[in-house]
Amino acid sequence: MKATQTQQQDLLALGAIDLEISRTKKVVAQLQSPEQHAEISGRIREIASRLLMARNQLDDAKLELDRAESDLKIVEARISKDQAALKSTSVPSIATGIQHELNTLARRKSELEDIEIAILERRESLEAEFAAISAEKAVVDAELATAHQATEQEIIKLKSGLALQLQNRDQLVSRLPEDLVASYQHKISRGSGVGRLSGRECSACHIGIDAVAHSALSAMPADELPECPECGAFLVRG
Ligand SMILES: [Zn+2]
Repeated sequence: MKATQTQQQDLLALGAIDLEISRTKKVVAQLQSPEQHAEISGRIREIASRLLMARNQLDDAKLELDRAESDLKIVEARISKDQAALKSTSVPSIATGIQHELNTLARRKSELEDIEIAILERRESLEAEFAAISAEKAVVDAELATAHQATEQEIIKLKSGLALQLQNRDQLVSRLPEDLVASYQHKISRGSGVGRLSGRECSACHIGIDAVAHSALSAMPADELPECPECGAFLVRG
């Protein structure tokens, strides 16, 4: 294919821009992938599951406490009732029976009070644990928010760079003959579009060109745009 020296240089520039564009698009896709903050998200999930467990333990403690308190009320009511009965009786055998029950109730009351204190202590340590896990989660949540924000900003920056790259590309394409661009596009779709001959190597495929092919390439007129015998890309000499 025929192409002036300027067109050949423009084509090389187009090849470089297309490489940049595809790199930028790849980075943007990576940044937008759900895997981007997988590590932080994983940590948040782990903390959230510990938080839920702590919440459940707290709920259990509350239920146990309610039960102990209600048992205690029943015992206390029974004690009041027995005490009143004791005052109003003058029969010694009945008084002995009531006193015996009162002793048993006093032991039960003391047991329930111990249980209540133990639950209250446990609830206190569970509340502290819950607060500590909540604080830990808040820190990692903030870390994720910051990471998201940084990624968003990076994406915005890359996209504005991409817009500029596409603008430059359009300018180059408008300067080049349509058939040359179409042919270049076709080559790109098959692999490499354009390379520079540097020494005996094609910069698109990095394969060395043998001496015979190389001297044939060198013998071609300057406005002739040859193809790399290895990868088929346009080969710009010099
Ligand atoms: Zn090549």
